[in-house]
This record gives sequence, C-alpha cells and structure tokens, in this order.
Amino acid sequence: MARPSLRVLEKEDQNKNLATEQSLYEVRKKIYPRAVHGWFAAWRWALVWFTQLVFYGGAWLQWNGRQALLFDIAQRKFYIFGLVFWPQDIIYLTVLLVISALSLFLFTAVAGRLWCGYACPQTVYTEIFMWVEKMIEGDRPQRIRLDRGGLSPRKLGLKAAKHGAWLAIALWTGFTFVGYFTPIRGLWHDVWSASTGPWETFWILFYGFATYGNAGWMREQVCKYMCPYARFQSAMFDPDTLIITYDEPRGEPRGARARGANLEQLKLGDCVDCGICVQVCPTGIDIRKGLQYECIGCAACIDGCNQVMDKMGYARGLIRYSTEHAMQQGLDRAQTLKRAFRPRVLVYSAILWLVVIAGAASLWLRVPLKVDVIRDRAAIAREVEGGRIENVYRLQVMNTSEEPRRFAISAEGLPTLALASPAELEVGGAASREVTVRLRVDPAAVAPGKHRIEFEVRALGEHELKVEEKSVFIVR
Ligand code: SF4
Ligand code: SF4
Repeated sequence: MARPSLRVLEKEDQNKNLATEQSLYEVRKKIYPRAVHGWFAAWRWALVWFTQLVFYGGAWLQWNGRQALLFDIAQRKFYIFGLVFWPQDIIYLTVLLVISALSLFLFTAVAGRLWCGYACPQTVYTEIFMWVEKMIEGDRPQRIRLDRGGLSPRKLGLKAAKHGAWLAIALWTGFTFVGYFTPIRGLWHDVWSASTGPWETFWILFYGFATYGNAGWMREQVCKYMCPYARFQSAMFDPDTLIITYDEPRGEPRGARARGANLEQLKLGDCVDCGICVQVCPTGIDIRKGLQYECIGCAACIDGCNQVMDKMGYARGLIRYSTEHAMQQGLDRAQTLKRAFRPRVLVYSAILWLVVIAGAASLWLRVPLKVDVIRDRAAIAREVEGGRIENVYRLQVMNTSEEPRRFAISAEGLPTLALASPAELEVGGAASREVTVRLRVDPAAVAPGKHRIEFEVRALGEHELKVEEKSVFIVR
C-alpha cells in the first residue's frame, strides 16, 4: 500500500484541529521541528556545549582535597573554589541575584529573549533531546511518518531507544544536580551500591523526571504556559530592542515561484512561502505574523530562511534581528546599533557595573573570620570572688578560611575590664567553635547600669585578620 504523503498527513492534522475548534481549551498539536543549520544554530550549540560542560563537569572538580563547588545545605556551608560561604554571607547571594536580574533586564532591553533562545535550561535540554530524537527517529518527515504509522517492531524499537536515551540523560542530569549539594564522589558510590539516602534518591528522580518531562514531552508548552518570563518580557521591550523580525515589505506578497523567476512580472516579494521558518520553529509559530509571546528568540527561523534565500539566489536576512524602529524607518545596521545605546540601556549598564564592582570589592576585602556574640541570659550579672561583677557571653568564632587558625580574644570599653576565662582558642579550617567568655570589672570603677563594650577576636600571627563585635556589660 502506498504511504500517505506529508501533505496528506498535514491536511489530516488540519481537519482534526477544525474538529476540536469548539473546545474551551486548546488541544496541543505536536510539533515536529525540522533540523536547521546556520550561524545562529552554531551559536546555540556552542552555548549547549559550554553550559553542559560547566554543569556536568563542575561537580567533579576538586580544590584543596575537597569538591570545588559544593552547596552543603546540611552543614550550612557553600564551597566555591577557595571561598567558603556561611549563612552570615547571605548578602553575597543577594548581590548575585541582583546581578542576575539586572543582566536579564539589560540583555532583554538590548536583544530581547537572548536568555530564552540560547542559555535557558529548557532550551538547552530541549535542543539535546531533539538531537537524540533526530539521531534515532530521523528528521521531521521521518518522525511524522513514524508517529502516523501503525505499531510495528521497528517503531517500538525506535521509541524504546529514544526514551531510553532520554531517561539516561535525564537521570544523569538529576544525579549531577544532587551532586552539587552532597559530595558527588560519595554519591556515585552510593548510587552503585544502591545505598543513597531517601532525600538524595527523591531529588535525583525528581530532577531527572522533570528534565525528561520538560525537554522530552512538554517542550514549548513550558515556555508558553509555565514560564512567567514570557509574560513580563514585553515590559522590558521597546521599539529599539533587537527582535526576530520578518521583513514584510520585502517579503510580501509571498508566493511560490521558480528559481530565477522575474518577481516584477509575477508581482511577488522575496518570501517563497515554503513554510521552512514555521517547520524549524520549536514553538510552532509563524514569525511572518509579527512578534508573538511564544517566540523564544532562538533564531532558528533566521537560519532556515537564510538557507532558502541562498537556494533562491536572494539576499539573506528576510527574517533577521532588527528593531521596530529600524523596520519602520528603514535604518541600516550601523544606525540600528547606535540606537541600542539609549538612556535605558546605559542606566541598566551603569547600575549593573556598580553592583558588580561593589560585590567584587566586598568579596576581595572579605575577612575570613566571623564572630557572633550572645550574652548569657541565665545570669545577667553576678558578684564573684573579690567583689567583682561578672557577665558571661557565648562567642561563636567561625574560621571561614580553609587553614586551621589560633585566635586571641580580648575585650575593652570599661575600666578594669578583664577576661576571667581562657583568652585563646584554635578553630579548624572552614569550621566554627563556640566558647564561653567571662568578663569581670571592679564595681568601684564602674557605675551601675548598661555599658557598651567591644570584643576583639584576632588571628595570632596575622594582626590584620581581626573582627570586632559590640555587646553590653551590665553592672547592678
Ligand atoms: S522560510 Fe523565508 S521564504 Fe520560506 S516561508 Fe519563511 S519567510 Fe518565506
Ligand atoms: S519564531 Fe523564530 S525565533 Fe521565534 S521561536 Fe520560532 S524559530 Fe525561534
């Protein structure tokens, strides 16, 4: 029996969609993106390689005999190469989030959804999963035929191979993700000896199946219905933002024609209405209808259309990065780029640089020692031998460097103030120790009431490494 042609299959799809038009909810039409090659596809793959090398490789890097990148939630310590962050360093996380948000505003204002199109994990994993799909099931026409065809051993074999490969990538992704929160080398042995803890097992499976579901099954639906960024991006766009644009005056009226046909005679624009730009689109939209919120800015339609333009012998760029102003006013590339440096972009850039410089300076000047002082609430002030008044404190000394250090404790702020407990302690690398400190004063030299005092914790042999913490001394 003759196999139905692609056109017949697509007609059947259209008829099915007409039949479901009365539904209150849109029925998902499965998208079969066509593979595309070109300059932007190369950039997208470069980003896939870069982000995945960093992600999959980063967890295995070692530094000073420990994992270089480890977010140890159980111990409440984050290790990033030579730096150890404690809960008290939350300010750096805040700075990182501010930098990320400002970068997103800046890049979106300049060139639209760059993040979505090239670096978002949803895009990156979908790209990887689509590549696997293409390797196993073939390109768009073969995949459509396979899905429309009846069940056969070949079809079952191909589907099993595809889902097996997807699951392997997804579970490896889940394993790597958990490996950033629990030492990955130990986790590797636990996985092979089937002795992972309940939380580790849960998160490996959860993150793995989220990857499998999002990149394998849901794909463009995540961008269209789940991602909030698509909804508020328009607030960051303006008429000078670079977006993927179809050059309508050049392309219309669209229509099929032979290569080398006289367009003036045919009264046609450059668009040959081949539909390649729609077939390569991972969200299945037609960019010729204008900017749509479903467009993730991946530029696959630019590469696809450029290939068609090359075949037809027309100039590239019927679909290209451009701006609303450039399209309306016919600006050339230099004029368009010049307008990219508008006040909004300059303000975002200035604030971003300020935050980056301030964050870097604060990190550079960061003292690898933290001290928390807590007054003993059980005994506010008591009289001890010799009639002196004693206050008791608990000092938590955190050595955030990786070398063990010896610290000396002292206090000042009142006449006759003296320590009545050991004044030195040793703290291991990236460790903390709590120590009870007793301070005494002669009541004859100090009036009753609350007095401000200051503790100083100094690393022995490194006089510039010290921390001062304020507290109060109570005399009754
Ligand atoms: S790929 Fe280019 S020529 Fe083909 S339909 Fe799209 S815009 Fe027209
Ligand atoms: S319209 Fe073009 S840029 Fe937008 S999602 Fe589709 S292929 Fe990517």
